[in-house]
Amino acid sequence: MNLIAYTVTDLLAQLEAGTISSVEITQAYLDRIEAYDQKVGAFLSINGDVALQRARDIDHRRASGQSIGQLGGLPVAIKDNLCVKDSPTTCASRMLKTFRPPYNATIVEKLQAADAVLIGKTNLDEFAMGSSTENSALQQTHNPWNLKHVPGGSSGGAAACIAASMAPLSVGSDTGGSIRQPAAFCGVVGLKPTYGRVSRFGLVAFASSLDQIGPLARTAEDAAILLEVISGHDTADSTSVNENVPLYTKNVRQPLHSLRIGLADEHFGNGLDPEIETALLDVVHVYDKLGATIESVKLPHSKYAVATYYVIAPCEASSNLARYDGVHYGYRTDEQKMQAELKQQRKELQESGDDLNLAKLDSALVRMYRQSRSEAFGSEVKRRIMLGTYALSEGYYDAYYLKALKVRRLIRRAYDETFKNFDMILGPVTPTAAYPLGEKADDPLSMYLGDLYTVSANLAGIPAISIPCGYTKTGLPIGFQLQGPALAEDSLLRAAHMYQQQTNWHQHRPNLDE
Ligand code: GLN
Repeated sequence: MNLIAYTVTDLLAQLEAGTISSVEITQAYLDRIEAYDQKVGAFLSINGDVALQRARDIDHRRASGQSIGQLGGLPVAIKDNLCVKDSPTTCASRMLKTFRPPYNATIVEKLQAADAVLIGKTNLDEFAMGSSTENSALQQTHNPWNLKHVPGGSSGGAAACIAASMAPLSVGSDTGGSIRQPAAFCGVVGLKPTYGRVSRFGLVAFASSLDQIGPLARTAEDAAILLEVISGHDTADSTSVNENVPLYTKNVRQPLHSLRIGLADEHFGNGLDPEIETALLDVVHVYDKLGATIESVKLPHSKYAVATYYVIAPCEASSNLARYDGVHYGYRTDEQKMQAELKQQRKELQESGDDLNLAKLDSALVRMYRQSRSEAFGSEVKRRIMLGTYALSEGYYDAYYLKALKVRRLIRRAYDETFKNFDMILGPVTPTAAYPLGEKADDPLSMYLGDLYTVSANLAGIPAISIPCGYTKTGLPIGFQLQGPALAEDSLLRAAHMYQQQTNWHQHRPNLDE
């Protein structure tokens, strides 16, 4: 029995029936990681022994007739910017390489209460800043469909581990597309919930008004289970929404009747790869056959979304990342070496009578902050801190930050208007399929422009899902996106499931033996 080929729904049914055990499933996934993760590089750390022990405990409890949580002993992978108590939580940064949080993220508590087996932590762009996972300071992740291509980012490891069948479920975070874009690049399902649907407590903050945690899986049905487990109000996150969690799992198989889908003119043409456009038209055709009404809509401000996002996200990042100074948190430079250098410089300036530069010399404390941050942050993180600090500084605040907030409001309003007449908006996730490793690594602007279809949902706080819908001629996955009004996760999952019932893209698997 090839356990890694089953969907979560199938595995749960078999666990319940007693035909397989959590230990067998966990071992099958650990074996798969052992065999293939050297090629893919999805995981930063693996919890083999702890995971097996936990699986054993769950099997034991099941055998003795005790009730078992909703995830029934299934392995779940977690992005490495989510705190797991006493375990590495690196954010793929040298800054947090040795950080062991003293507490669990709320979603980790919820996963444990639901009897998930935490199998390992997945790679990401440093502090979730990026779109290819190439900004990880710790390792490179490869796209399982073509190892020479990027897996997308920032949840690159989270998407790649699902595509490579190294975990049945994984948890990612999405600030501007980081769940949906890697899901599209790797041919899996990824859902960014409504802002506040899932507690952010214990998610290392990047841009707090945009960050949201969500599930990655092979099918909408599987994603529904994980979303149901991790959603809900949390007093530890003041921005979490105090609304009941719908029974996503129960509802996901119910088809939606008289579905009204909008196609935004701004999402097509200009810049969109023709292969993706063709795949999207096929998706439209599927929904048409399912009885949906499809009409064009206008989202006139979407052309400003990337610019708006790349002001707001760095502003918030520059503030959030101030805590990594070698004192409060994070890496600290070699102080002895630093003190010695400072002493030497001071001596030289005194001897040459250079009082001006002597007065400018940093104090030991300031130098410690500066050196710690210079040595431990990567270049993209530094770029964001500088951009954000600049945009927030006196004289520029109104022109950049305040202006961006106003545009954000307009983007939100346009969605509100559209959702008065439509249930969801269907469009692309990315302008192209996954590109070769290295192709955009030195070109931040072109990397940023790749986020044009995903950032609006974060700016507006609305949910959006990415679903596999085909392959390019060269065999790279293509995804489509459905965006819905706030708290419409239920409808998005149902619409995605309707599509997956008609197509079999989600059943394809990459061949990692070539
Ligand atoms: N690619 C976007 C960025 O670099 C989004 C990242 C994310 O969602 N975490 O900011």
